[in-house]
Amino acid sequence: MSGLNLKKLPKISLHDHLDGGLRPQTIIDLAAAAGHKLPTTDPIELGQWFVDSADSGSLVRYLETFDHTIAVMQTVEGLQRVAREFVLDLAADGVIYGEVRWAPEQHLQQGLTLDQVVEAVQDGLEQGMDAIEAKGGFIRTGQLVTAMRHADRGLEIAELAVRHRNAGVVGFDIAGAEKGFLPIRHKLAFDYLASELMPVTVHAGEADGIDSIHDALVSGRALRLGHGVRIIEDILLSRSESDTDFVELGPVARWVYDRQIPLELAVSSNMQTGAVQIDDATVSDHPFAVLYDLGFKVTVNTDNRLMSGTTLTKELELLVDTFDYTLADLETFQLNAAEAAFQDLEQREELMDMISEGFADFA
Ligand SMILES: [Zn+2]
Repeated sequence: MSGLNLKKLPKISLHDHLDGGLRPQTIIDLAAAAGHKLPTTDPIELGQWFVDSADSGSLVRYLETFDHTIAVMQTVEGLQRVAREFVLDLAADGVIYGEVRWAPEQHLQQGLTLDQVVEAVQDGLEQGMDAIEAKGGFIRTGQLVTAMRHADRGLEIAELAVRHRNAGVVGFDIAGAEKGFLPIRHKLAFDYLASELMPVTVHAGEADGIDSIHDALVSGRALRLGHGVRIIEDILLSRSESDTDFVELGPVARWVYDRQIPLELAVSSNMQTGAVQIDDATVSDHPFAVLYDLGFKVTVNTDNRLMSGTTLTKELELLVDTFDYTLADLETFQLNAAEAAFQDLEQREELMDMISEGFADFA
């Protein structure tokens, strides 16, 4: 596997935050126009500042990074540019389908409405897709409209998502502080989404444990779990030198396993945010390999490319380096993600065919 250019492999990105994937130079340009002060105006140093802050182990510093990205995403021009470049960057990394998640309620500081910001992002995504198509490439995108779990606009954001479902929005998510803010706080939103048959993914099992995952499944009716890393806490493992067997799955892990609910794992980000509950954890302690061995539906994601200094290609390389995965394993992760996409079955089958063909060409 070493020496292969994994960038060329067709990939699916399911968990990728719009406000966590800006180019440093774009932040600098837009901040200058908005009069927003940055820690530095050198693009290399700024990129490093984001990674260092996210690596610091301080939640305050981690969250401060988003103050700067969100500050420059308050105008139609800013939102369009960020969304357009997001698509170009995914396509350059070999992504053929990307779900772009972001929280419209955080982008109203300059007076835009919820509908206007969703439209601005959609315009940018379409500009990006058109540019790739014009060059003979292929990428499709879908917006995941996110509500902030500590705030109280869940139902309003759910209605926004449904209103734009035929105009680029493919699903709903809640994000932000997980601990202390269970999905049931947004029960009305989730009941409404269910009545509208709108797909839902929920951040769960990242900063909180099994109770949070349980509620994402029950109150949120989540079809996928945003990370879900801590599902491992509901699994009693028997480990030998050569392989991993489970002795017992708890009820929540059993449900996720039996129903093959996709896990949107993001290894680099999970290491930064402490989702792996082991002191001084290294990448090899991440439960990705255990969950994959046991037959859980694992997918590979970037979460916040800017803060983690990563790309989907780099995440695949990290997994290959750490767990010795083969091309066939990487193909499985991409097929899992294609199958889990919030798209019609016909479109998912098309993506799966493109992945199989792309990997066959590569081998
Ligand atoms: Zn996330």
